[in-house]
Amino acid sequence: MNADVVVVGGGPVGLLTAALLHSAGIPVRVFERNTGPTEYSKAITMQPRTLETFASVRSEGGKRLVDLVLPLGRQVPRTHFATLPNLLELGGFETAYPFVLFIPQADTERVLARHLAAQGVPVEYGREVTSFGQDAERVVVTVGEETVETRYLVGADGAHSTVRKAAGIGFPGTEPTAAGFVGDVELTAPPEHDFHLWSHETGSVSIIRTPSGHRLFGMEPGDAGLTAQEVRARRDRPLGTEELRATLVRIAGTDFGLRSSSWLSRSTDSTRHADRYRAGRVFLAGDAAHVHLPAGGQGLNVGFQDAANLSWKLAAELHGWAPSLIVDGPASYQAERLPIAEKLGENTLAQSAIMTTFTPAGAALRAMTAELIARVPGLSAELAGWVSGLKVRYAVAADAHPLDGLPAPDLVLDGENLLHRLEIGRYLLADFTPDGRLAALASPRVAVARAERRPGVSAALIRPDGYVARAWPEPDVADISATVDEWAGTPARTSDRPSTGTSAPMRSSQ
Ligand SMILES: Cc1cc2nc3c(=O)[nH]c(=O)nc-3n(C[C@H](O)[C@H](O)[C@H](O)COP(=O)(O)OP(=O)(O)OC[C@H]3O[C@@H](n4cnc5c(N)ncnc54)[C@H](O)[C@@H]3O)c2cc1C
Repeated sequence: MNADVVVVGGGPVGLLTAALLHSAGIPVRVFERNTGPTEYSKAITMQPRTLETFASVRSEGGKRLVDLVLPLGRQVPRTHFATLPNLLELGGFETAYPFVLFIPQADTERVLARHLAAQGVPVEYGREVTSFGQDAERVVVTVGEETVETRYLVGADGAHSTVRKAAGIGFPGTEPTAAGFVGDVELTAPPEHDFHLWSHETGSVSIIRTPSGHRLFGMEPGDAGLTAQEVRARRDRPLGTEELRATLVRIAGTDFGLRSSSWLSRSTDSTRHADRYRAGRVFLAGDAAHVHLPAGGQGLNVGFQDAANLSWKLAAELHGWAPSLIVDGPASYQAERLPIAEKLGENTLAQSAIMTTFTPAGAALRAMTAELIARVPGLSAELAGWVSGLKVRYAVAADAHPLDGLPAPDLVLDGENLLHRLEIGRYLLADFTPDGRLAALASPRVAVARAERRPGVSAALIRPDGYVARAWPEPDVADISATVDEWAGTPARTSDRPSTGTSAPMRSSQ
């Protein structure tokens, strides 16, 4: 075998997947067809949940990935739904990162690629994967003139994924109906604050300040209500600075001092997701698995959570201890992530209805939704929870504890931030009991850490990706022990072993 895992695509999702697998001690190779890192950025919004994931990954010089991206971005403590003027506050969540970070995707990719290179996993640029074949033992991947053998293949090769097509995985969904403009520009007369304008007569434009200039996106009424063929024709027609200037003047009565542009493109509301996330030894992640209107800054962030969900489970499978629960059971990669793509499609289609309906009825929908967001705190918190990723929940039992299935809140464990305690090779059992009675449940796959008392929780089993597998209101040691075994595959307890020394992680930690 040339590698245990081959990742196809050196975009952000492929890069994070490779970084996490490498941190689990898995030999991994990354093939990227572009000849070098991209200069252009589709995404600019990094959500709090991504920052939490980045905080769990150690990089060079004692830093974590989050320490490398924070100085490159601009922090804003609120976000939006469907570019509505009433914004969603992020301050009410229990997170160390209650803000979005505006950071160009190209910078995020550079940070991840450098991190990988420093770990001895250079991205192999200029190498296009054209096909693969698989049997029960391996996948044989064709990369140019070379064939590479691997145990698993991850297709993180974007919306038009070669891996998805070659694996025969369907990509059902809705055809595009609208084609808006998007661009990174220099403005000499920008609005003072981040700005969202919407008129049912002239169109919409949003302007967000980025670390290096401004991001514009919007559309005119004539850009919506199109056939799929019309959308594709528009998408394939390059957008120039002068065309954009004329569009801005028609919509807003000003070009905001548009001086130059570094990237101009058109975005559509085509909404699809893979009908399977796994075919034998092949997985899909990121845009290869889901596409939608770029509304609310979600696609990249959801892709990063795909990477976080897949990596520890695949590492466990490769290390030979993964229980059926996480391989093909209710907590498998596909069982957990495919429903998230369905919800993502729903929420972005709903945003699309609000953003692309240029009629008085659309204006009324927009005004009413904005008013509800302003007046109903529960609604704005719910929307903020989805978009930020902080309240995206995996399936749980009807009588589940309120923490079950959610990203763990910002906890201090043994005096350290929870995110710094996560390890890709083992679970973390947070022990909230005053007498630390869960210590005996420590094992090579489960670290036990003391947590400060918290109403309604005695214990929480936290997965390597930082989600709560299960929490308990009472310290029912027998039930906790059985649940730990279900998730961790019945390892011998530290307390059952002849030596009483502290347990070591399976492999190197994140
Ligand atoms: C205008 C716009 C704005 C957006 N804004 C946001 C935002 O603010 N926040 C957000 O979360 N999301 C946003 N998104 C979505 C986000 O950009 C994508 O979700 C993200 O790029 C997905 O990352 P990925 O790694 O899955 O795929 P990609 O970024 O598409 O990367 C795939 C990589 O695979 C490579 N590749 C493809 N085929 C092969 C092959 N056969 N062999 C080798 N390499 C291959 C490609 O060259 C590419 O580098 C936006 C999207 C658009 C269009």
